[in-house]
Amino acid sequence: MSEMSSTVRGITILGSTGSIGLSTLDVVARHPERFEVIALTANSQVERLFEQCQSYRPKYAVMANPDAAEQLQSKLDASGSETEVLSGVEGLERVASLDEVDDVMAAIVGAAGLRPSIAAARAGKRILLANKEALVMAGDLFMAEVKAHDAVLLPIDSEHNAIFQCMPKNYATGLSEVGVAHILLTASGGPFIDRDIATLESVTPEEAVAHPNWSMGRKISVDSATMMNKGLEVIEACWLFGASAEQIQVVIHPQSVIHSMVQYIDGSVLAQLGNPDMRTPIAHALGYPQRIKSGVDHLNIFDIARFDFKEPDMQRFPCLRLAYEALTAGGTAPAILNAANELAVEAFLQGRLGFMEISTIVEKSLEQLAVSPVTDLGALLRVDAEARDVAKELIERRTK
Ligand code: NAD
Ligand code: MG
Repeated sequence: MSEMSSTVRGITILGSTGSIGLSTLDVVARHPERFEVIALTANSQVERLFEQCQSYRPKYAVMANPDAAEQLQSKLDASGSETEVLSGVEGLERVASLDEVDDVMAAIVGAAGLRPSIAAARAGKRILLANKEALVMAGDLFMAEVKAHDAVLLPIDSEHNAIFQCMPKNYATGLSEVGVAHILLTASGGPFIDRDIATLESVTPEEAVAHPNWSMGRKISVDSATMMNKGLEVIEACWLFGASAEQIQVVIHPQSVIHSMVQYIDGSVLAQLGNPDMRTPIAHALGYPQRIKSGVDHLNIFDIARFDFKEPDMQRFPCLRLAYEALTAGGTAPAILNAANELAVEAFLQGRLGFMEISTIVEKSLEQLAVSPVTDLGALLRVDAEARDVAKELIERRTK
């Protein structure tokens, strides 16, 4: 192997057709000498995955949906492509653990990303984790697999990537040991931060997905509007950095330029700043520990001129309160919170549920289901399925 090719990293992008997937391919395409795309995956977007296969010529393409996999296969066959098509969760798990893969971008949305992310951990890969729901559901199991198999976890979520950049190298020995007092987790507050609370009931899906600063997938956009996203991120930060809930302070910062901060016992506060564009954290993790170009414009500090900060209002954002409660309850509570939220957000996006009812469904699901310790992945997936059944029924009863 030449010296050049030995530095090429094989990459699998789970969820390559989504918002994070597209940004990842954008950065990868700027560094063809660094990365070889081994596998691309999607749920059912045949057309888009087909086009990506034409451009990036991966060895494997996975469609989670078996019918979509068949359609992709025939399109690729007709075009003379050599890409092999796999399907289902098994296909996703396989491309997350192939020998020729060094890096796995985990960018599937929701609980569907858990099994392939765990497979990547078990195979000792470097995991670039965007799929926060996996950590929320299964933080304990996931971190244990990472440790047991010497996998490396690099956060892609912009806040967690920022925190990672502001942490001392040896933070894993314990935050108080390395002099960290607090994590200041910033939040834009979403599109409804200043809207009259009384009018939140009538929010439409179009209004909810129109985020003021970030362009993202539909699910996370709704989560940002309810601030469930920040709640999930508090839980994510606890697992990633070994922090307690009390060590994390959510800070509303509407400009979305400071992506989070770390406060030290000597009074220092370190922050990471940048234009709100996911290609920055993606490039940070792709190049780590080197810095590589991302295509993001340099921040013009004079254009920004000022930073605002305020405390979050738990009444306006009951989802944030529920996430803190689930975190405190521990065990399967965050998995129940996540499953109920996924169903409620989907129902809201389909016009079957009101915006303020998302938190009601989550709260009632948490009330109805008993919380137990997380023992193994199988048990956790059963809790996830059960929580979905309960949330589904609550939504149906509500809309009848
Ligand atoms: P998206 O909806 O744009 O894309 C999701 C991807 O997952 C698509 O490729 C889709 O085909 C695939 N997918 C969906 N359901 C699947 C299933 N059942 N099985 C297999 N694949 C499936 O979502 P996104 O905005 O790119 O977000 C992806 C993840 O990254 C989420 O967990 C989100 O919270 C996180 N994240 C996103 C952003 C952002 O800016 N978009 C920022 C921070 C974190
Ligand atoms: Mg984020």
